[in-house]
Amino acid sequence: DSLVRATADEPERAAEAALRPRRLDEFVGQRVVRDQLSLVLEAALGRGRAPDHVLLSGPPGLGKTTLAMIIAAELGTSLRVTSGPAIQHAGDLAAVLSSLEEGEVLFIDEIHRLARPAEELLYVAMEDFRVDVVVGKGAGASAIPLSLPPFTVVGATTRAGLLPAPLRDRFGFTGHLDFYADDELERVLVRSAGLLDVPLDADAAAEIASRSRGTPRIANRLLRRVRDWAQVRGDGHLHLPAARAALEVYEVDQRGLDRLDRAVLDALCRRFGGGPVGLTTLAVAVGEEPETVETVAEPFLVREGLVGRTPRGRVALAPAWEHLGLEVPLPGGT
Ligand code: ATP
Repeated sequence: DSLVRATADEPERAAEAALRPRRLDEFVGQRVVRDQLSLVLEAALGRGRAPDHVLLSGPPGLGKTTLAMIIAAELGTSLRVTSGPAIQHAGDLAAVLSSLEEGEVLFIDEIHRLARPAEELLYVAMEDFRVDVVVGKGAGASAIPLSLPPFTVVGATTRAGLLPAPLRDRFGFTGHLDFYADDELERVLVRSAGLLDVPLDADAAAEIASRSRGTPRIANRLLRRVRDWAQVRGDGHLHLPAARAALEVYEVDQRGLDRLDRAVLDALCRRFGGGPVGLTTLAVAVGEEPETVETVAEPFLVREGLVGRTPRGRVALAPAWEHLGLEVPLPGGT
């Protein structure tokens, strides 16, 4: 199943890669992080040294991978890519680290999912530019220190709070990416439409932006779906009626909620009477992993004021009931 999904996702990933900004000045929005990063990079370039390690946090699809690529490009070096779940053993990480060339950027996606032994190896590598290579087994095993050329780790995580403090402390700079404003997403869409060479009207761009949940990845994905609709059922032009019709086909509602978001709201309101309900129970009810619900659906639902997080669990707020067309229950009522 995962193989099938991986293959099916391939064209989507390629389409996404084609739309990635390559330089910092092409990167739309996130002004604060962009300013801070540009200082870090310019200073490092001026000193002719690798910059401090960089941690990027924020919900999926806001540009963490893109920024890692940009960092390498701005430094004129190459990017090596790995991820927390891809590193099963500390030895895998030791192999990656010892193959790094001077000044290279190592991108570790989902860094909060590194296994503990790999994490400990990484502390030392980031701080002292050294890995201890273990040779032999059992009582006869010994560690041979291997020094590494200077390099920069760019770590990405959906929640910086998930990182153990000793790891978090090894990053000299942490940038937090937040959801994009609609006008920023419009700029992302106009740029992408240009690259895809499709005619996109301003009002259609605004419509797609407003339903993209503050997320460039979603904006670009919806743009491609609207393009499909315009090509097959329309006249190839991406105008407002085409955008609306396409978004209806793909079940993206007025607020940009997709199937998973609505499933979460629906379970919260109808099944659990508005909560509070624990994350795991809620995730089981919608047939998803708790991490998916927590990192993909929830940040947006919370930001939109649809869902609240309380110590006893998730609760549906009044706008959630209204969004589903249900009556808002009276406080203290049944
Ligand atoms: P994940 O961690 O889930 O992989 P991410 O935060 O790394 O997500 P990216 O893969 O970097 O997200 O970005 C997703 C898509 O959104 C890319 O195709 C990229 O082109 C586009 N994108 C992201 N940020 C920007 C931006 N600031 N300006 C223009 N396009 C952007």
